[in-house]
Amino acid sequence: MSGVRHNLPPEIIGRGTWYDKAAKELIERERRLGRSLDLIRTESGLGASGFPHIGSLGDALRNYAVAMGVQVQGYNSELIAFSDDKDGLRKVPAGLPKDLERWLGYPVSDIPDPMGDCHESFGAHMTSLLLDALDTCGAEYTFKSGAKVYEEGVLNDEILALMENAERVGEIIKEEIGQEKYLEALPYFPVCESCGRIYTTHAYKYLPEEHKVLYRCAGMEVKGRWLEGCGYEGEVDVLAGKGKLSWKVEFAARWRALDIRFEAYGKDIADSVRVNDRICREILGYEPPMHVQYEMFLDRGGKKISKSAGNVFTPQVWFRYGSPQSLNLLIFKRFVGAKSGSVEDIPPHMDELDDLEDVYFGRVKVKDPKERAKLSGLYEYCWMLKPPEEPSVHIPYNLMTNLAMVAPKGAEARFIREKLRDYGYLDQGDRGLEDRIRYALNWSGTSVRLA
Ligand SMILES: [Zn+2]
Ligand SMILES: [Zn+2]
Repeated sequence: MSGVRHNLPPEIIGRGTWYDKAAKELIERERRLGRSLDLIRTESGLGASGFPHIGSLGDALRNYAVAMGVQVQGYNSELIAFSDDKDGLRKVPAGLPKDLERWLGYPVSDIPDPMGDCHESFGAHMTSLLLDALDTCGAEYTFKSGAKVYEEGVLNDEILALMENAERVGEIIKEEIGQEKYLEALPYFPVCESCGRIYTTHAYKYLPEEHKVLYRCAGMEVKGRWLEGCGYEGEVDVLAGKGKLSWKVEFAARWRALDIRFEAYGKDIADSVRVNDRICREILGYEPPMHVQYEMFLDRGGKKISKSAGNVFTPQVWFRYGSPQSLNLLIFKRFVGAKSGSVEDIPPHMDELDDLEDVYFGRVKVKDPKERAKLSGLYEYCWMLKPPEEPSVHIPYNLMTNLAMVAPKGAEARFIREKLRDYGYLDQGDRGLEDRIRYALNWSGTSVRLA
């Protein structure tokens, strides 16, 4: 460990980053509320209806970073990674065959894996891409599948309370966002027993003794177009895992059932969070978690991947050209502000991570102790608080790609290594050089192909 942290003046919280401040605030809030501090959970939903892009990974990593901040403060914490795999498919993701349209409205956990038989469902395939990225980035989490959570009855107490108070739920939704739909409809979507779709059903009556809802498979709107339901009239036990709560109430149910204390969210679901906060407090009697709202991630893709399937800037694309820690840096360096990302961000973030490493190992002096702690702390968060013992070799990314571009075919790695030795870059070792050569070769290879 570097000695940097031991001489910090007292006003620096934790490692000096935004996450440390947020974690301290969170712990103080929990103490004020009189809740147990034994385990402080944060949560992130994982979309399972399409290819996860960097923004989806960012949602989960932000909530993980606050969980790390809680640990720095000396408390136990845990990130719940909750896959929204009971969701119905609303559109066919770009890059996938059009004939998937026949699965519109079906829970993504009931749709066959479109990529082959590698996973048990569409939802499981998409979720696994995001979990792989979280693993590569070094995040630790407890995984929950929405479909399984409903099957296992984890939300049953909450579902009963919401159904019994459905009228009040409808009023709260109307008061907060003006939507009148739930003055009539129950906030629960049964899976249609006849056609298997979930978003086509309309639940209109609750039978409290049997905890059943009556529903009609009426149809659903998909991107301004009406998708006809099958017309089936049925009833379903809301505790049987054969449906899901509406988004207007599901967060609230999850927060209470899983005892969630913090959840950051993107601006696009601000209305939904506001409604859920009130429902959580007023109907479920649970003080909702602390929130922080952040700007949505704008996926600019970039010309390198513009021809790939769906043009989605995925974490897997980043890992071809840059390290997981450089991706963590992109996500962690600004929590709240607007962020946009494209592959062109990879070289500067690789270089910036090297700069942070220099600060952390004391190779570059930063006078202001607060600024020093912040930069050094950010570096530690990029390494998920498990930074290496020694620094890696530092070579500007564009030098690496230039060398990769002119290297003779078949002997690229040897050529790059020799040049770097000549230039004096390897005088103090070559830790991490193999990875850097691979990133540079991938980068130059793709540039050549797309030129
Ligand atoms: Zn698969
Ligand atoms: Zn139906």
